[in-house]
Amino acid sequence: MIRDIHRFSQYVYDLLIIGGGINGAAIANLAAGHGLTVALIEKGDFASGTSSKTTKLLHGGIRYLENFEFDLVKESLQERIIQMKAAPHLVKPLSFVIPVYKNDRRPLWMMKFGVTLYDFLGGEHSIGKHRFLNPSEVKGEIPDIETQGLQGGVTYFDAQMNDARLCLENVLMAHERGVHITNYVEALSFLKENEKVIGIKAKGLIRNIDFEIKAKNIICALGPWTNTFSEKNKDELSNKVRTTKGVHIVYKGNFSKNAVLVTNRDDKRIFFVIPWQGNSLIGTTDTDFKGSPDSVTTEKEDVAYLLREVKRVFPTVDIKEENIITTFAGLRPLVSAQGSPSKISRKHGITRTKDGVFWVAGGKYTTYRVIAMDCLKMIYGRTFPFLEEFMLYGSGLIEESSQELARHYGLEEEIVDHLKNTYGTRYSDVLKLTKQDPSWKSRICACSPAIAAQVVYAIKFEMAFKDEDIIWRRLSLGYLNCPTRQCFKQIEALRKRFIK
Ligand SMILES: Cc1cc2nc3c(=O)[nH]c(=O)nc-3n(C[C@H](O)[C@H](O)[C@H](O)COP(=O)(O)OP(=O)(O)OC[C@H]3O[C@@H](n4cnc5c(N)ncnc54)[C@H](O)[C@@H]3O)c2cc1C
Repeated sequence: MIRDIHRFSQYVYDLLIIGGGINGAAIANLAAGHGLTVALIEKGDFASGTSSKTTKLLHGGIRYLENFEFDLVKESLQERIIQMKAAPHLVKPLSFVIPVYKNDRRPLWMMKFGVTLYDFLGGEHSIGKHRFLNPSEVKGEIPDIETQGLQGGVTYFDAQMNDARLCLENVLMAHERGVHITNYVEALSFLKENEKVIGIKAKGLIRNIDFEIKAKNIICALGPWTNTFSEKNKDELSNKVRTTKGVHIVYKGNFSKNAVLVTNRDDKRIFFVIPWQGNSLIGTTDTDFKGSPDSVTTEKEDVAYLLREVKRVFPTVDIKEENIITTFAGLRPLVSAQGSPSKISRKHGITRTKDGVFWVAGGKYTTYRVIAMDCLKMIYGRTFPFLEEFMLYGSGLIEESSQELARHYGLEEEIVDHLKNTYGTRYSDVLKLTKQDPSWKSRICACSPAIAAQVVYAIKFEMAFKDEDIIWRRLSLGYLNCPTRQCFKQIEALRKRFIK
């Protein structure tokens, strides 16, 4: 996938999509699969907005049951299994435990009913059966859990994903289907003819080049940037998004082999402590955010809020701020509604403004295919299904064993496993590069099995431009507890070799 911004002004596309988060990427992928000519532009890196700041779950959303959003949960559970089949290298089942204490707002019977209903709604798409636990079984599952007042618990299953790479696989698939794609190009304003939008003025941010892109239909999949872009363009968008901030902490080590659902004692919100790449992902918060989406950051209070509750649930673990590896903050682009952030529906909405532009709002990552289908249906007035067997860039069966491949390429088996888990069937494309330069077989750091060929691959074939694109969204190294950060230095050195 090569960035070639000059070609964008040579066509009138059927569809121009602004925003390379999961929704923009999925719409592009679907539209191209139906033979439309499509352009997709992204002002930062793909998935650099909300789509890499998630809790990394493809889930029905057990907490939406108490808002009676059964349709959303059912639909999400169906989508979960489709993604697990399409990208087993990026989407894996994960077991969850909910410990329940005396005086919890949600009593044990309610939790038992909740997980039973959850599995019922999953039906044939269920990925593991729930269980009811007595206090000693909860302790067996989570050895460091607070036992005072513990009445029991429940377990259930959901799926964990690599959000940035799942988005990238949609981008790469769209590219393979002929979509013209670029990152680091910003949409500045609309081009209008007779009050209708016929294209945009865009700026290539790498070389500061202004150009125009024309299209018969335009979709803004701008996530949290929806309001600012529509206001800047004086577009009368009635259905604005309500942006709420969610913060995550990546904490050294694992609290448990299971994900744990924690209920905050004060505001009764739930959040998760999840095993993630050998460490723990703790989050998330949910607070209204009024500033520019470009300025969202983690505040001290966000960290204090999460750690306070984790300390309560794991009283014997010495929880210290020094053990925080990193934090990240993202914004939910929710369909605007009144009420507390946690109570707002995660359903999506698509609006057409008078000038003919389509705007996507809300939704969950999990339901991105549904959002893409609804969006194209609204534009063209007919259904646009994904193919029966949904395929992503790395989909398919890997027949060769890691042992055979390790022997063939002269690599450690751990490295081969890591490549398979990152690229699925495309692992061999990365390995081919090592024929060009055998030194690219080397690990870039002791902290992970990532090898130099992956950095080269990210630059040459996955349109990575900045070091942070590689560190966070191609190789997920930023989440690791690396004492030397040798990996960052190696990435910088290789990037300088290929991108001046
Ligand atoms: C804290 C948090 C946790 C979450 N956890 C989960 C979860 O575990 N599971 C789940 O299913 N959902 C989760 N969600 C919801 C999910 O992440 C979002 O619904 C989804 O990522 C939104 O994708 P998007 O493509 O609409 O937005 P984004 O990913 O934000 O994409 C919009 C893109 O538009 C680009 N852009 C903006 N302006 C311009 C411009 N002028 N020109 C070009 N490009 C532009 C931005 O750079 C951005 O990349 C979570 C959300 C948050 C905030």
